[in-house]
Amino acid sequence: MSAEDLVKGVLGGDRRSVARAISMVEDGADGLAELSAGLYPHTGSAYTIGLTGSPGVGKSSLAAQLVQAVRQRDLSIAVLAIDPTSPFTGGALLGDRLRMQSHATDPGVFIRSMATRGHLGGMALAAPEAVRILDASGKDIVVVETVGVGQAEVEVAHATDTTLVVVSPGWGDAVQVAKAGILEIADVFVVNKSDKEGAGEAARDLRHMLKMGAEMPWTPPVVQTSAATGEGVEELWGAIEEHRKHLESTGRGQELRRARLLAEVEEMASQALKERVHAIVDGDPKLGDELLDRSTDPYQAVGMLVERVQRGDQGE
Ligand code: GDP
Repeated sequence: MSAEDLVKGVLGGDRRSVARAISMVEDGADGLAELSAGLYPHTGSAYTIGLTGSPGVGKSSLAAQLVQAVRQRDLSIAVLAIDPTSPFTGGALLGDRLRMQSHATDPGVFIRSMATRGHLGGMALAAPEAVRILDASGKDIVVVETVGVGQAEVEVAHATDTTLVVVSPGWGDAVQVAKAGILEIADVFVVNKSDKEGAGEAARDLRHMLKMGAEMPWTPPVVQTSAATGEGVEELWGAIEEHRKHLESTGRGQELRRARLLAEVEEMASQALKERVHAIVDGDPKLGDELLDRSTDPYQAVGMLVERVQRGDQGE
């Protein structure tokens, strides 16, 4: 399929084209630049929601509940479940679990798990690209779900308009949250499994910690849910909408989107330069010996490399 046809397919909301385009992102396939050029002008209208928290707190169950809440409002939704560490663990399972539900045949729902195989920038760069594909395909809401609370995962979930941090009673006491460094990134806290003992306490602890922190233009609400029964999911959706209104009315949303896009292109450019430097070093048979026998020094070598990059030297 030509890039042009693929772009047309994605823009038309064709599921197979969307799936194929996301696989290209996973693989870091040739043709991504062309695909992106075709899609980018048609992106920017989806609202993105990040979902992060330790394994087992109920993220995928909550995602399924969110799908339902969004569909009841006649909006379309995509869920991108991301596992930065392995293509075979949580992410894939989670996608499968969600797929098994009644949304499987609903054209307004697209669920996909994703791992990075060949993408040079890793998940941090692959995820926003995949999100833009879903955005361009016409989905109103895109949920980005990560499997754990490692640094990479937290960053990926945070690169969205509204970040939900999910905890559950037992794991989710406030001290753990603070330790994991996710207090700062949450726009909304979700204490899931509120049908279990200790949920009210966890919520209180979180609210207390938030009060102790510095004054913020937006104080993350703490919402209790039970993804098992659906209790609290309407409140959660309400909290997401409140945050969205806050972002829109203050202009903060656009500011953050701008900053994220700049950070992304900066990282992409750095990756591209790094590859070129590597190619030049790799293609220079003398440099290692010159450094070893002291006929050049590291700073001189760096100067030479920068100069060769600027000259457009592609290495051997
Ligand atoms: P994830 O690993 O964070 O995606 O968590 P899952 O959604 O897979 O949920 C982990 C386990 O907790 C599953 O057995 C769920 O059925 C269960 N679970 C999820 N939400 C709730 C809840 O609100 N209440 C109870 N009691 N169990 C839940």
